[in-house]
Amino acid sequence: MSSSLNEVGVGSVDVAIVGAGITGLSAAWHLTQRGLSVAAFDGTGIGSGATAVQPGGVRQQWGTEVACRMAREAYAFYNEIGERLAPAVDPQLRACGYLFVALGDDELAAQRQRLELQHRLGVPSREVTPAEAGALVEGLDTSAMVGGVWCDQDGYFDRPLAVVGAFADAATRGGATFVDRRVEKVVRDGEGWRLELRGGEVAHAGAVVVAAAWDTPELLSPLGVDLPIEREPKYLFYSDPIRERLLEPLVIVPELHFAAKQLADGSVLASDLGGGSREGEGKEDWHRNVRRAISKTLPILEYVSFPVLVEGFYDVTPDRQPVLGPIEGHDGLFVAAGLNGRGLMMAPTIGRVIAESVATGAMEESMAALSPSRFGGGTLTPELQVV
Ligand SMILES: Cc1cc2nc3c(=O)[nH]c(=O)nc-3n(C[C@H](O)[C@H](O)[C@H](O)COP(=O)(O)OP(=O)(O)OC[C@H]3O[C@@H](n4cnc5c(N)ncnc54)[C@H](O)[C@@H]3O)c2cc1C
Repeated sequence: MSSSLNEVGVGSVDVAIVGAGITGLSAAWHLTQRGLSVAAFDGTGIGSGATAVQPGGVRQQWGTEVACRMAREAYAFYNEIGERLAPAVDPQLRACGYLFVALGDDELAAQRQRLELQHRLGVPSREVTPAEAGALVEGLDTSAMVGGVWCDQDGYFDRPLAVVGAFADAATRGGATFVDRRVEKVVRDGEGWRLELRGGEVAHAGAVVVAAAWDTPELLSPLGVDLPIEREPKYLFYSDPIRERLLEPLVIVPELHFAAKQLADGSVLASDLGGGSREGEGKEDWHRNVRRAISKTLPILEYVSFPVLVEGFYDVTPDRQPVLGPIEGHDGLFVAAGLNGRGLMMAPTIGRVIAESVATGAMEESMAALSPSRFGGGTLTPELQVV
């Protein structure tokens, strides 16, 4: 791939990446592994977007084939993160297990349907009775449950930002450069692309990967590319660190829009998963919903208080699937965005797929459901297992 003059001082690059969140960082590392020269641009620094907020959840229990496949591959990668990325700080992936609780028959039927798909794809999830769920999760009130599903490989990184650092450091060792500038415009320039940066500088690259989360449409629409990626607020309540271990697995109660987990530092995380997407509600409502769900399902947390509320954003799409791959009609322009709340856990797969696509010009067949062109009348494969 040809590269050209770069006036911002990063040397000549084969590939420019817009956005240095976990998606851009994984893409950067994978591209360097293919021998390409890479510069990643971010106006607010490495890992400063949604990547800074995520608490490190990694799961394989998904509801579509493409999401299960991506999660399986990423899980295998993360189990070898030491050998793959040689992190400076061990991120410590702990398989604490994820329990999806069903309070009603409809939810249980939906969970069973997803289990069938997951088993076909090798996800080691299983159905559990209320009694089994109670044995797996100490403190769970099973009296209102009709069943649930469990995967003991699902878990959490104790130090999620160490994963971010690991990709950034490994990409740097591979020769990638990080440029602390916002990209204002991406413009066709002969055979390649010109990036116009805030402050007036420009950079040139043979190919561009836009990994700018919810800002992606703003960069692409001047090129006539309209992608329906929007910003959706999400809120997490945190307790202060608690010495006793109260809740090891992650418990999700979809019918109550509720999830909770105690993190490695002892703090308990709890969320009203619908908080931020229901009109006219605020933090008191989300707090009340969390408390109600705790009384009903996890009374062991009844005396935990949640003084901290953290706001973050998902970059969401209409089918709740990422947007990944080359943009038709714009040779050398790629997108990796719309992660819909799963950017950390999918990063190894997203980075590999986009790097392969940039390097070979072809897009992996099994990722067709994620094509940027699908919104213009293509087939949508909605993912409903979003937490
Ligand atoms: C509350 C919450 C909990 C979550 N929990 C989990 C979890 O447990 N597990 C999980 O896998 N995921 C989780 N997620 C989702 C995860 O955080 C995101 O999917 C992931 O961080 C997305 O990474 P990204 O690199 O695509 O986007 P971001 O991290 O948002 O990075 C995009 C970057 O692009 C930069 N940028 C934007 N526009 C420009 C421009 N014009 N020029 C240059 N740079 C630009 C931004 O500054 C930003 O740094 C959670 C998210 C939230 C909000």
